[in-house]
Amino acid sequence: MAVELQSILTCPSCGFKHEETMPTDACLWYWVCPDCIAMHRPQPGDCCVFCSYGTVACPPVQVSGKGGCCAGHDQPGAGASEPNL
Ligand SMILES: [Zn+2]
Repeated sequence: MAVELQSILTCPSCGFKHEETMPTDACLWYWVCPDCIAMHRPQPGDCCVFCSYGTVACPPVQVSGKGGCCAGHDQPGAGASEPNL
């Protein structure tokens, strides 16, 4: 099946739209808006920022459906980049 890799993220803070290419092997756990420099994390229940703010769900969700993605973000080093705040 064809997986869409281009997603347009909409910043919930300022409304800025930015096209991103999604990685197929990892989830994007946070996204910094290039316009207002606000950092956004997925909304509760979403696995990555593409599922929360993008026009297209992330590749693992497109293939396996919601829940088929990396549900366990509790494991450090599992592929997701977690900033140390
Ligand atoms: Zn913004």
